[in-house]
Amino acid sequence: MQRSIFEPEHEEFRSAVATFCDRTAAPNLEKAIEQRVFDRDVWRQAGEQGFLGLEVPEEFGGSQADDYRFNMVFAEELAKVSMGLNSSMQIHFDICAPYLVDLGTTELKTRLLPDFAAGEKVAGIGMTEAGGGTDLAALKTTAVPDGDNWIINGSKTFITNGYTGEIIIVAARTSPEKGARGISLFVVEEGMPGFERGRKLEKVGQHESDTAELFFNNVSVPGENLLGEVDSGFIYMMERLPQERIGCAISNLAHAKQAFLETVEYAKEREAFGKPIGSFQHLKFVLAEQATKLDVTQAFMDECVMAKINGTFSATDAAKAKWWTSQVQNDVIDACVQIFGGYGYMNEYRIARAWQDARVTKIWAGSNEIMKELIGRELGF
Ligand SMILES: Cc1cc2nc3c(=O)[nH]c(=O)nc-3n(C[C@H](O)[C@H](O)[C@H](O)COP(=O)(O)OP(=O)(O)OC[C@H]3O[C@@H](n4cnc5c(N)ncnc54)[C@H](O)[C@@H]3O)c2cc1C
Repeated sequence: MQRSIFEPEHEEFRSAVATFCDRTAAPNLEKAIEQRVFDRDVWRQAGEQGFLGLEVPEEFGGSQADDYRFNMVFAEELAKVSMGLNSSMQIHFDICAPYLVDLGTTELKTRLLPDFAAGEKVAGIGMTEAGGGTDLAALKTTAVPDGDNWIINGSKTFITNGYTGEIIIVAARTSPEKGARGISLFVVEEGMPGFERGRKLEKVGQHESDTAELFFNNVSVPGENLLGEVDSGFIYMMERLPQERIGCAISNLAHAKQAFLETVEYAKEREAFGKPIGSFQHLKFVLAEQATKLDVTQAFMDECVMAKINGTFSATDAAKAKWWTSQVQNDVIDACVQIFGGYGYMNEYRIARAWQDARVTKIWAGSNEIMKELIGRELGF
């Protein structure tokens, strides 16, 4: 179905991103899968083209688009080539940037954002701890004042860009007695004594994105690395989670669409009983169902993005977009694997990898159970 939300400048931007994906991201994918991270040079090339600074004001070296359709286009094109690169770059440009830009001191922004936008420094965000990710308010990492500084102790796990990132936003408890209202956000930087990384975690999929445990042993963080006000961290996270969720939803759908298109081609070429497998009525119907799900979901996502631009996109809308797209993505790709037959189970086939890459989207950015909980609450339960 023809999409109607884009202007010529978005199409131009899409072709620039597609060129970056063809010339830089795709040729580096196998190496990244092997080493469990993309080379920094890939980030630098994205930075040079202004892709990583979409949320960063020009005065701090960014390209400040102020139009979420650009974020959408960048995420869609990345997801087509690599869900792992998409996750790593989306955490950086779309999720971490608003925290740094909205809540950072001028000193912090002047010091970090030019390198952030250039891809010289990579960012991650550490909310989840080994003891639990869903119940964010129960986090145990602490930050206590020490003169003008803060001393951070604790650990985080499953952190995207955790192994190589130089800028990590860390949620820590500053007022133990105040529950959710006692959490603050800090920027922990590469090289701060006591900040250590665990091993790169072995995931089921998205091997090309780096995911790690982080440890903070008496890390002394200067006062200017506190983001916003003390004890307001939980509110800041809740305010920014809708953007994280719409970003994930965009990627989920783009990833599924790409897998679907590749499957349609396969179903035209692969023959059984002397004819293309796609011409068997059952497979034709399965493909028709997936095409419909994708188009209907795309219409919803485009509407979500326009609502975000117009300021009417709600946290509940974000919850719906996140759970629905991740379910559609997993259902569509599972159907695609079936159509590939045994080849669909072979790692050398993109469809097998896509299936592995997709599974996590029902778990992260707030699990689908929590998304439904949020929607249910708005229904009055
Ligand atoms: C590859 C990967 C990358 C990640 N990147 C990051 C990152 O960059 N930064 C970061 O901070 N985190 C990151 N995460 C963590 C992710 O957000 C968490 O895994 C997720 O929030 C779930 O937390 P948990 O794993 O502790 O599961 P738990 O909180 O232990 O939940 C386990 C199960 O219980 C369910 N559950 C819990 N509470 C309820 C409830 N009230 N009602 C119904 N069901 C419930 C959950 O839905 C889930 O199915 C990443 C995770 C992965 C796998």
